[in-house]
Amino acid sequence: MLAAEIIAIGSELLTPERTDTNSLWLTARLNEIGIEVLLKTIVGDSGERLQESVGDALRRSDIVITTGGLGPTEDDITRQFTANAVGRELVYHEHLEAHLRERFRAWGREMPEINRRQAYVIDGAQILPNPNGSAVGMLYEEGRKMLAVLPGPPRENQPMFLEHVLPKLTKRAGEVFVRRRVLKVSGKGESAVDEIAAPIYTAYPEVQTSILFNKSEVEIHIAAKADDPDKAQAIADELADRLAAALGKAVFSTYGESMEEVVGKRLLELGETVSVAESCTGGLIGRRFTEVPGSSSYFMEGAITYSNAAKMRTLGVSAEILETYGAVSAECAEAMARGMREYARTDHAVAVTGIAGPDGGSDDKPVGTVFIGYAGRDVVRSIKLVLPGDRYLVRWRSSQAALDYLRRQLGR
Ligand code: ATP
Ligand code: MG
Repeated sequence: MLAAEIIAIGSELLTPERTDTNSLWLTARLNEIGIEVLLKTIVGDSGERLQESVGDALRRSDIVITTGGLGPTEDDITRQFTANAVGRELVYHEHLEAHLRERFRAWGREMPEINRRQAYVIDGAQILPNPNGSAVGMLYEEGRKMLAVLPGPPRENQPMFLEHVLPKLTKRAGEVFVRRRVLKVSGKGESAVDEIAAPIYTAYPEVQTSILFNKSEVEIHIAAKADDPDKAQAIADELADRLAAALGKAVFSTYGESMEEVVGKRLLELGETVSVAESCTGGLIGRRFTEVPGSSSYFMEGAITYSNAAKMRTLGVSAEILETYGAVSAECAEAMARGMREYARTDHAVAVTGIAGPDGGSDDKPVGTVFIGYAGRDVVRSIKLVLPGDRYLVRWRSSQAALDYLRRQLGR
């Protein structure tokens, strides 16, 4: 398989002010045709380092793409030092200068002399026209190696890449189609997931499988390649199905959907409704439910019952429960869910009460202790979790765990 490297050029990209997004866009385009990006580099405006980086990249990889540094100013060093890296001279093209002068004249200005630099191109390189800017790009090929030198602004390099570089790469990559699936897993850590998944996906060495951890879930990304789109899809689907079967109920999403979408879809299928009573999540669950378009069909109501008084007044939690077990307890979570369900007259209700921190923890209820209550037609139940993380993460993970608990009650 062909391997590519990307080099982003510009000192501003090494500061917190600017992010290199060109390489992300280019990587997506390359991956679509089955070319893998093995390394990317950001180089400041240092000619020596740029020359070294481009030279190293060309030794390692068949395809090297640079962006930026083609402007007319002194710090735009790409032209000279990419030429050095491939051991070629820069040659002057009169028609490029004429074209530049023409562009400036069309804007009613004289071309500043420094722009003459932009009429120089690596000897032997194909000139890539730039209808959206003054700097032309260059495509230099030698043997199996290809160096594409593109301008920095996305609105200049993207059309240039699509029109002049991508067709060549597609031809070289052969007709390769990539199809993807994303599985999402809750309630299991990265290594626990990998223990189950690895024996399965390692039997598909031609499929790229990666396991990523998010703030509250593990994702399995599958990318299958084949010379036919249906074949690639079939391989991705087969692997996804086998992984989903092995991981069982822990898999909540098989096409990359979010937890709130999955739960919402299930409620819609069942034609049933839900309400939430939230303490430590402060409305986060309600927000997540209602972010999904169409959620008004199943999400009826939420209450943020932060104080004991609110838990008693709105949800009918008894003073006895609060005194005996405390607000952060299984008994309270269950009473909250039961009270919410009765108040909102929904089929299901979930409730969350916990300690998000940083203060408020104790020996038997440390920060991160969370109880999730559920009330349905004939059941009221709860679980206790001790979630790791700071206040933000404990709140987020509580919301995820509550949605997941509901999902499992709904038989999904
Ligand atoms: P120009 O002829 O416009 O000067 P150039 O090739 O010299 O083109 P740069 O000066 O390096 O390009 O960058 C111009 C602008 O392009 C930057 O200010 C930035 O907005 C954008 N840009 C450059 N590199 C990147 C990158 N890697 N990712 C995203 N944007 C970039
Ligand atoms: Mg510039």
